[in-house]
Amino acid sequence: MIDIMSYTEEECVAYAVAKGESGYRGKQLFGWFRKGITSFDEMKNIPRGLCDIIKNECLLAGCAAVKTQISSDGTRKYLFRLHDGEMIESVFMKYIHGNTVCVSTQAGCRMGCVFCASTINGLKRNLYPSEMLSQITEIQKDTGERVSNVVLMGMGEPLDNYENVIKFLRLLNCEKGLNIGYRHVSLSTCGLTDKMERLADEGLPVTLSVSLHAPNGNARKQLMPIANKYGYDELLKTCVEYEKKTKRRVSFEYALISGVNDRQTDAHELGKRLKGTLCHVNLIPLNQTERKVYKSSEKSHIETFTNILESYKITVTVRRSLGGDISAACGQLKAETADG
Ligand code: SAH
Repeated sequence: MIDIMSYTEEECVAYAVAKGESGYRGKQLFGWFRKGITSFDEMKNIPRGLCDIIKNECLLAGCAAVKTQISSDGTRKYLFRLHDGEMIESVFMKYIHGNTVCVSTQAGCRMGCVFCASTINGLKRNLYPSEMLSQITEIQKDTGERVSNVVLMGMGEPLDNYENVIKFLRLLNCEKGLNIGYRHVSLSTCGLTDKMERLADEGLPVTLSVSLHAPNGNARKQLMPIANKYGYDELLKTCVEYEKKTKRRVSFEYALISGVNDRQTDAHELGKRLKGTLCHVNLIPLNQTERKVYKSSEKSHIETFTNILESYKITVTVRRSLGGDISAACGQLKAETADG
């Protein structure tokens, strides 16, 4: 089956022409797909014959909400079913600077970070570009509000689904689509350096966030198996090159785990490593998952950690956790069952 909902405008035109229709029909198709239709029958101005062909050979790869939870802070978490029954979660957050959707890029994840719930059952499959877009269009329909910012920080490792994520970003940015500027998009990666290098050459000015979570390679390996494949020095070097090439500041995410990576010595080591680079460190007080052995740092430790990093002239922010009461915060998303 063809994933026609992920086609670019040119691909839609080529498809229509191949079916003996005008290129204009292809443009009409593209317009419908960008609206986030949930049935091909919604395409009222497309001739019956073409519509039947599409129904026969194409997939309507979107998301259907099976459960919505609303947090006391207004954050909404959606459990979506995909066309083949796989489940993913997405989160809608309201910030002063606009409404943000946290998009999942894979059903499950194979990166194995020890503190994250998304990876517990491994990777089920990559999401299509259309399925990433559909998370946003469905949330816009449900809330009746426009989404202006997108963070690729839901389930999955975006750079492990590289081609589909890049296509998604281009469709997201397109004028006939959601028309969301690249500067309003953040992509978070656990640090696949070869893919980060490729991303730097795409010419997409999205903000790159890198999940660092440790002050050195050995400590990082304890938390993130991927650190065995891509070394710490190599990762930092890639970030510096990314900044040089794109002129965009890289943001480092650092989840503070009590007694594991939140000691004063850790802060000094990290400070020394990052001193003089253009980066920004975003500290994330650890959110609770089923892996109860890991606990969030105490408030006073977070403050001390922040002060030490600042003494190395590093810009530090502490991420405000949203949706914790409905397990919608960073690292808490998983493929729950509808009644789970
Ligand atoms: N695969 C991408 C996106 C993951 S989600 C990545 O690794 O960057 C976004 C952020 O939440 C990542 O920095 C991730 O490491 C972090 N995270 C995962 N589990 C968490 C938890 N329990 N508490 C706080 N942050 C967590």
